[in-house]
Amino acid sequence: MISVQVVVVGAGPGGYAAAFLAADLGLSTALIDPELNPGGVCVYRGCIPSKALLHVAKLLEETRHAKEWGVDFGDAKIDLAKLRGFKDKVVKKNTSGTGQLVKYRKVQYLQGLAEIVDAHRLTVKLADGKEEQLQFEHAILATGSLPAIPPTLKVDDPRVMDSTTALDLPDIPKSLLVVGGGYIGLELGTVYATLGSAVTVVEMTPGLLPGADRDLVDVLAKRVTQTMKSVLLNTKVTQMKAESKGIRVTFEREPHGESGDNAPKEQVFDRVLVAVGRRPNSKIPGLEKTHVQVDQRGFIMVDEQRRTHEPTIFAIGDVVGEPMLAHKASHEGRVAVEVIAGENVAFAPRAIPAVVFTDPELAWAGLTETQAAHENRKVTIAKFPWGASGRAATLDRTDGLTKLILDPETERLLGVGLVGPGAGELIGEGVLAIEMAATATDLKLTIHPHPTLSETLMESAEVFFGQATHVYRPKRG
Ligand code: NAD
Repeated sequence: MISVQVVVVGAGPGGYAAAFLAADLGLSTALIDPELNPGGVCVYRGCIPSKALLHVAKLLEETRHAKEWGVDFGDAKIDLAKLRGFKDKVVKKNTSGTGQLVKYRKVQYLQGLAEIVDAHRLTVKLADGKEEQLQFEHAILATGSLPAIPPTLKVDDPRVMDSTTALDLPDIPKSLLVVGGGYIGLELGTVYATLGSAVTVVEMTPGLLPGADRDLVDVLAKRVTQTMKSVLLNTKVTQMKAESKGIRVTFEREPHGESGDNAPKEQVFDRVLVAVGRRPNSKIPGLEKTHVQVDQRGFIMVDEQRRTHEPTIFAIGDVVGEPMLAHKASHEGRVAVEVIAGENVAFAPRAIPAVVFTDPELAWAGLTETQAAHENRKVTIAKFPWGASGRAATLDRTDGLTKLILDPETERLLGVGLVGPGAGELIGEGVLAIEMAATATDLKLTIHPHPTLSETLMESAEVFFGQATHVYRPKRG
């Protein structure tokens, strides 16, 4: 019987961040996961491998673009096995790194599946077939999420992929249908389109990335219509059938849709990627033997300290609610551990950044304009188009946009939105500014390096005062 102060179930970016901090704080810690090393969906089959492939896609796109700058690399030859090898190497590098960190910190890592016995005990079915009993003072459930695939989109054929199988890059299909114009659909759709597939994206709502501000999405959508074969909005897939020549897909226009967007009634695709969202992985064996409660959508219910209804059990990450993002899970994990260690803290971020790693990248943090409108909240929007950025011009990418969402009274920064190459890196400054309660004046007075895209944040603040150096837009009234 192993006895620890903290056991963490699930070693994704939430779980391993929690376990590592617990060990750093001197608590005896165990971490349980079916994989050989910590990493979870993010590292093994999510964020990390997809970004390795998106890096290659970006390079391919830039070499094509380079023709316009007088440099012709010719047609790229893609060695799919080697590309897969690169992606696998990136994953291995990360997971062997987390494996090392487990050893350095003396975290007891159990490769296997946990079954809860009661509020202080669990059994681990180890990967080698043995069983281990474990006793804990506190447990943190960090079991993540799984792809949600509705019955109509469930086809038992390897040509119908989810994000995991799509990341395996089985081939470069001539035609690929991506069901869902969200994070995964657009990121992996970008990879396949750049590698040479004719990609069709079908999205049931009136726009890509529902929830994100439309002016940002418009910039991405414009480019997506150039790189992908077609984007069908307001359209739903009602049926999919595997045939020898491909997957026959039946489309239906959403009745409320203004533009049924010329969707064909049916079409046959070589492959289909289904990316219509994820569901919490809260079906943890034995959970019913505790007081932990699960809501109607399957999320484990927690308070702001990430405590469940069972005082010894905490839960964090995708399994407790949206946004289902790795960095939110890591932060929650650290909060839960600090609470266990007796600190008076809570999960109360002012801003959780979201990044879609498409080309261009789209990123936002804090209050969005859409949310403000929804809440009837008065805000001032200050926008700086990248057409006025010297740095964007040097990259030949003036299609971006930076916007600030500000409180008109206090001039405080409430939200930041960005679209353009590198937006995912730039949003970090926005998050810090929101967390530090920065005002438009703070951003305006902060000297940003020239020539960089980061200047667009400073100049957006100058736009707020009607005094942007590179934009002539005097303040009205
Ligand atoms: P998503 O919620 O981002 O997008 C799903 C999309 O599918 C939505 O636009 C939805 O309207 C649409 N849809 C739903 N049912 C449909 C149907 N029957 N036909 C057509 N469209 C339909 O979900 P996802 O792309 O599967 O990603 C899941 C989650 O994983 C994301 O919400 C995100 O939290 C996480 N993720 C994050 C990143 C990142 O941070 N860069 C990348 C990938 C995934």
